[in-house]
Amino acid sequence: MSLVASSDVMYRLLIQSVVDYAIYMLTPEGVVANWNPGAQRAKGYRAEEIVGKHYSLFYEEEDRAAGVPEHNLEQARHTGRFEEHGWRVRQDGSAFRAHVVIDAVRDDQGQLVGFAKVTRDISERHRYELELLEAKVLAEQYSQEMANLSRFLDSVIANIPASVIVQDLHSQRILLANQQAERLFGGQNASMIGQLPGDCLMPAAVEYLEQQLARGARSSKGYSAETRVDTACGPRTLRSRALLSQHRDGQADYVLFVAEDATEELAAHAQIHHMAHHDALTGLPNRTLFHERLKQALLRGEDSGKLTAALCLDLDNFKNINDSLGHAFGDKLLRALGKRLRRELREHDTLARLGGDEFAVVLTSLDNPEAACVTARRLIEAIAPPFQIEGHQFTVGVSIGIALSPDDHDQAEQLLGYADMALYEAKRNGRNRYECFHLELDVAARQRRLVETDLRTALHLGQLQLHYQPVVDQETHSVTGYEALLRWEHPVRGMIMPMDFIPIAEETGLIHEIGARALNLACQEAATWGTEQVVSVNLSPVQFKNANLVHIVTLALADSGLSALRLELEITESVLLGNSEENVRTLRALKDLGVSISLDDFGTGYSSLGYLRSFPFDRIKIDKSFVHDMCDSREAMSIIRAITELSNSLMIKTTAEGVESAEQMERLRAEGCSHFQGFFYGRPAPASERLTHISKLGGD
Ligand code: C2E
Ligand code: MG
Ligand code: MG
Repeated sequence: MSLVASSDVMYRLLIQSVVDYAIYMLTPEGVVANWNPGAQRAKGYRAEEIVGKHYSLFYEEEDRAAGVPEHNLEQARHTGRFEEHGWRVRQDGSAFRAHVVIDAVRDDQGQLVGFAKVTRDISERHRYELELLEAKVLAEQYSQEMANLSRFLDSVIANIPASVIVQDLHSQRILLANQQAERLFGGQNASMIGQLPGDCLMPAAVEYLEQQLARGARSSKGYSAETRVDTACGPRTLRSRALLSQHRDGQADYVLFVAEDATEELAAHAQIHHMAHHDALTGLPNRTLFHERLKQALLRGEDSGKLTAALCLDLDNFKNINDSLGHAFGDKLLRALGKRLRRELREHDTLARLGGDEFAVVLTSLDNPEAACVTARRLIEAIAPPFQIEGHQFTVGVSIGIALSPDDHDQAEQLLGYADMALYEAKRNGRNRYECFHLELDVAARQRRLVETDLRTALHLGQLQLHYQPVVDQETHSVTGYEALLRWEHPVRGMIMPMDFIPIAEETGLIHEIGARALNLACQEAATWGTEQVVSVNLSPVQFKNANLVHIVTLALADSGLSALRLELEITESVLLGNSEENVRTLRALKDLGVSISLDDFGTGYSSLGYLRSFPFDRIKIDKSFVHDMCDSREAMSIIRAITELSNSLMIKTTAEGVESAEQMERLRAEGCSHFQGFFYGRPAPASERLTHISKLGGD
């Protein structure tokens, strides 16, 4: 075998042994001339099936229609080589990605003898390239998102109203510090980032921050604290949290420190707390704080064996000042008063304003009860000198009730209640004084409460009745009218007289209902008498506090049909005391209804003949105490004379009350008294049994 022949054989053998590449020849027209196993493997055709067929079979339908196979050959022919990555079709119709090289083969004369064609199935690689491309696109997208997120986080960190610092756990250097942190802790040097805390923080903050970061680094759950720190913005209270930034594997590289400035919030809380516990007007502790202090004092007193005192204070005529000079004025007085009282107390004693003109004091660690009395006296004396406000000078008095723990009680509520009872007693005993609690006060208070509840029932069950006592005109020898007097027919206690329940009704305000009931009943009963006799109804000074009084009287007349001329209202001098202008207006309005007004119990209490000029009374009732004493006392006699003379000159009728004897009646008549009322003529009796006529001169 020649060398050429043998190399030809070897070459063919080589071609035949190549299985990864399809290697075959095409005729100049593109017809397959031979076929190797690589071609069979790549395209599926056996040699005998394909040799002699046009190579365009390997192209996809569309390519064939577009003349691509011919075009590619043309290019190979023209340029010597055609190369591409493209889609080709196997015998079974499936497509594969191919790397195709078509080389034009020419003989020595340059005559085209055919094409050498090498095709490689690169589907696998192509898929891999596509996946890579997809991954690349995804990675780009992702990195864009990360960049956005990172920018967003940067702006969050820069803008949250807190200081944020991140420290590298190993190098201790600060990796991140937002503006707030720099402003609060930063020293002179511009940025904290990249520096050790000790090198970049203002000196006062170094210890604080190092401590917080160290604690955060040590604690697995994070370390929270509220600390007062000297910062570049002055002393601030920081609410901070330091924690490790953990990896998934539990390793940590960073400590994160976040601190919020709680200074303002805490100040606001403190302010709210102060407002909730202090009186806005005087700045003194209010009722809530007073109770707290009292309870604490009682606990401490228990431990130390010392006494604690609760004092209740009430101003004696504050209401009048407030009403006449105005609230702004009253407020100033209360403030001045608070100051004076406070000055008399020790540091650890509490002075509180409970409301209105009510003050209270807790005195702690007293050695004996007398110590509380000494302080009470001092408080009263401190108030005694006149107050000078807005050019006005005036005095107020204060009444004080004292209760002691443990002597009286060891519970705050009860103790305060006792001090209040003692205060009530002080007021009853003449004001501007103090009174200590004793058990009888409790008994009396209970009694009052009992009467009060009973009285409510009495009102609703109709146990309150009126008895009528005749008023006699000695001139005409006739009963000109009756005074209606309340009686309480108690199912157990029997008949209760007005003196035993009217004061309680006045204290509790029940008098408004009781008074209205007496008025209605008197009008209704009198309307049935069929005479022109007058009925007199007593009005309590307390009833004048009711702005509806005139309306109530109008209704009583309208409901009963009683003529106003037959109704007389009895008031006492105290109605003209205090806020008298308002009361005088009410009296005028009542008089305008047509009813008569008489001044009862004249000569007692605050008596002044001047009252007779302040209102045109229709009648004066001389108090029974003068009538009682007139035969033995020249003084009583001369008072009666003065009253009758003045009344007669003012043409006011006079009724002498409590006439019990003919002698009294005779002397009163000699003095010019026009009317008489008393047991001498008749006792108060139920309407049906009332005395209608007097049979003989004098009593019956
Ligand atoms: P008052 O208005 O001064 O009534 C006269 C009181 O003197 C009556 O007492 C009457 O029973 C009593 N009295 C009459 N004649 C004599 C006598 O010859 N000798 C003696 N020693 N006493 C005599 P009473 O009924 O106990 O009433 C006491 C007070 O109760 C009344 O005094 C009046 O202030 C008050 N009161 C009675 N009823 C009412 C009422 O409906 N409303 C109000 N607000 N007060 C009333
Ligand atoms: Mg009366
Ligand atoms: Mg009277």
